[in-house]
Amino acid sequence: MAGRAVGPMAGRDAARIGEGLARARDRIAVACQAAGRPASDVRLLLAAKEQSAGAIRAAIVAGACLIGENRVQELAAKGPALADLPHRAHVIGPLQSNKINAALRWASCVETVDTLRLAERLAARAGARPGGIGVMVQVNTSGEPTKSGVEPAAAADLACRVAGLPGLRLEGFMTVGLNSDRAAAVARSYAALREIRDAVVASGAPGATGAVDLSMGMSGDLEIAIAEGATIVRLGTAVFGPRPRRDGTLGR
Ligand SMILES: *Cc1c(COP(=O)(O)O)cnc(C)c1O
Repeated sequence: MAGRAVGPMAGRDAARIGEGLARARDRIAVACQAAGRPASDVRLLLAAKEQSAGAIRAAIVAGACLIGENRVQELAAKGPALADLPHRAHVIGPLQSNKINAALRWASCVETVDTLRLAERLAARAGARPGGIGVMVQVNTSGEPTKSGVEPAAAADLACRVAGLPGLRLEGFMTVGLNSDRAAAVARSYAALREIRDAVVASGAPGATGAVDLSMGMSGDLEIAIAEGATIVRLGTAVFGPRPRRDGTLGR
């Protein structure tokens, strides 16, 4: 690999990220086997918030092909530095209407649609983009008031409406699971997302039959999410190590 391919990252940092990615892939493979699912069922999305373009580049060079950013500003800022590498990007944080154009420019999917209003605004602009844009409906499966997402009881109805909007391709459902070390409770929140997905796909609503993806599970609980049917796990610390905190110490 040419030195340029890893940009300003020191070789040992790039190697450490490559090792993190390999370990994360191993965890996914083991979890898939335990769940009786083929490893090809589950895609690894690199949660890239606060990581430099060089660190993300190292992960893509090491084989990651799907990245996620919480903030569209970060996606747009790092996009040019990664444009020469084959990969796709998903928006995995709240999308403000004034960032829709940037999201359309840099992302192939917005995982965080949780109101019809946002979906309609996205649809109004997405028509100009060939193939439109992928979307997922974000569901607040944990009931924690700090979390984004439509409430579970309203999720299927919202998804069916979103699926019918021109310019949008409903690809599935996303949740940030319950933040708890009680595995059974975490599993219930992921099962709830799967049940919503199954109901929407079975509804036969126009545009809904392809909504099969379940984006759920992070570094701390990917095994639980895969057991409950995740098709995308969003991993940050498992690949990159602990994120630097503003005060310079290491944290989650
Ligand atoms: C940060 C983040 C992740 C990844 O979290 P880790 O614990 O670092 O794996 C996944 N999803 C969302 C929405 C995030 O903000």
